[in-house]
Amino acid sequence: MKPRVRFAPSPTGFLHIGGARTALFNWLYARHAGGTFILRIEDTDAARNTQAAVEVILNGLRWLGLDWDEGPLSGDPAGPSRGDYGPYFQSRRRDIYQRRIEALLAKGLAYEADGTIKFKMDRAPILIPDLVVGDVRRELTDREQADPDFIIVRSDGQPVFHFVNVVDDLEMGITHVIRGEDHLSNTAKHIALFRALDADPPQYAHIPLILNSDGTKMSKRDQGASLMTYGEEGYLPEALVNYLCLLGWSPKGNREKMPLTEVIAAFDLPQILRHNARFDLAKLVWLNGEYLRELSDERFYELSAEALRRGGLELARYPDAYVRAALETCKGKVKLFSELPAYAGFYFTDEIKYDPAAAEKEFTPENRPRVDKLRAALAKLEPFEPDPIGATLKAVAQELGVKTGVLVHPTRLACCGNTAGPSLYHLLAILGKDRALARLDQALARMV
Ligand code: GLU
Repeated sequence: MKPRVRFAPSPTGFLHIGGARTALFNWLYARHAGGTFILRIEDTDAARNTQAAVEVILNGLRWLGLDWDEGPLSGDPAGPSRGDYGPYFQSRRRDIYQRRIEALLAKGLAYEADGTIKFKMDRAPILIPDLVVGDVRRELTDREQADPDFIIVRSDGQPVFHFVNVVDDLEMGITHVIRGEDHLSNTAKHIALFRALDADPPQYAHIPLILNSDGTKMSKRDQGASLMTYGEEGYLPEALVNYLCLLGWSPKGNREKMPLTEVIAAFDLPQILRHNARFDLAKLVWLNGEYLRELSDERFYELSAEALRRGGLELARYPDAYVRAALETCKGKVKLFSELPAYAGFYFTDEIKYDPAAAEKEFTPENRPRVDKLRAALAKLEPFEPDPIGATLKAVAQELGVKTGVLVHPTRLACCGNTAGPSLYHLLAILGKDRALARLDQALARMV
């Protein structure tokens, strides 16, 4: 039987990085085994349930490229949301839950109590077979011993999480429940409910939590907890997906950068690691740099331009060819798009802010005649292109009897405002003679 798995988030207005990884592992398993990946929005808590909160989830999954395979079709009030399937919404499945409640009541496995409906919980210990954690034997706690029954329909008529979660897994034919380890403590209840509903429970795979790099539990407020901040901070979805694959799963040979097709081929549940996974931002940044280097020029251009605009730079004031040429000098040089405003912003402004320490070191009276000589040579240079620019710098340095670096540093600082950046000869050529000379003049004025 082909596996059927699901990601079942509650719309809280937030997609936690751990939730995104749960979605990814479900998706990977479905793709690996040729199964079905279902998205089910667990939105029975009407107070928290807003369209905006659902959009956060859908946008997050779409950004990561985790497409789902099934859901209510067009014409159904439950969907589709954007020309694609579903997802399923629990809030639209009330009748299904009602039928199951009635069945339990009729069998005497549930009963009314103070306006609520309670489930008659198994008294015997329950064994939870888990593909990741191993077998877990769940005994009733002392308190539960006295009254293990639990509410499945609240007094306002709302069925609770445990119940709708199980009914849907049953109705949707879910074969494997892959979810965060925080749900292990609910699983005995779920298994008891499956049995009461005359069904075999699915197979469970509880995946370890994601911890902060210091080993503490990652909470909502921690840096990096929200999926959407990654897009804003200049990460590529393919880099984040690759990174998330490694958070709790490990391919043979300790491979790290790995094409998704190969992850899909290799992914399986028993290899999910049992210990909690620590979030390693440095590794993610490294992976991002690797993926960024491989981007097509077009996509690099689009995402870079977006990052620069977000950084407040007005690209529209510059010809498209200029913007493209400028960005080309940054490819392979930055690891995150969010570095670009600082790295390449000098192309798109006439107000250069100099790094104060570097200015003190480079804009000296001693350097003035040197830069002046270079300026004169550059002013005469035709064509104003990287190779002749480089040759000019070298020639002037030689005439002055100094190393080329003596000219490179103040020139770069004059043009970019700091001492690191794209290749100097290229950036000068792209700035063009007029702009480059104007920047040298501005710097010369300070070398007194
Ligand atoms: N709605 C639950 C959650 O977001 C789903 C748990 C499950 O996957 O069964 O944690």
